[in-house]
Amino acid sequence: MNTLVLATLNHKKAKELRDLLGKVPFRVRAWSDFNGVRKVREGGRTYRENAVKKARAAAKATGFWTLADDSGLEVEALGGRPGVRTARFARKRKGITQDESNNRKLLKVLRGARAARRAARFRCVIAVVSPQGMLFVSEGVLKGRIAEAPRGRSGFGYDPVFLVPGYGKTVAQLGKQVKRRISHRAKAVRKARRWLMRTIT
Ligand code: IMP
Repeated sequence: MNTLVLATLNHKKAKELRDLLGKVPFRVRAWSDFNGVRKVREGGRTYRENAVKKARAAAKATGFWTLADDSGLEVEALGGRPGVRTARFARKRKGITQDESNNRKLLKVLRGARAARRAARFRCVIAVVSPQGMLFVSEGVLKGRIAEAPRGRSGFGYDPVFLVPGYGKTVAQLGKQVKRRISHRAKAVRKARRWLMRTIT
């Protein structure tokens, strides 16, 4: 059976990717299981550039099929930022996680902003690379709004501050069952999965 390496060192993201892929004719492995793995410096101008860079680096290092994700948050009031810089939006602060620090900063810069200005979207780009260097790229978007305060405990990153209007709840309150149906990552992975199934059979 072919091996598919999930080219991310973020364990929560890797877990989501694995769940979303579901049953596939691949042995799915985490990149962190391989020796000598180093974090790929993202630094690209687009999600696509970063996702392709991570997938290619993992394919080169392992010789297997790889799947990488690059994602971010785009906020209306910030002119679409933080975008590709979402992971490093805030400085890491002592005593709290990077995610908490990011969420605090976001709520602070949006304090007092009207609902329309709080409109936001999560965007996810998935890149798949074959051992021969074939490339597939897909994208998924989830539209929503930045909440006034964090709510919920499920998920990761900005999930506690991202409100999904149809549900009136944050992604962290919705829980993983709903997230796996509606998220930006779910949409992008569904397309990648279809391509993988077509391509290897
Ligand atoms: P990267 O794709 O690993 O560069 O991470 C992008 C940033 O977006 C990180 O701060 C993540 O926490 C955040 N992010 C990506 N996907 C999600 C998600 O599904 N929910 C909440 N935050 C996310």
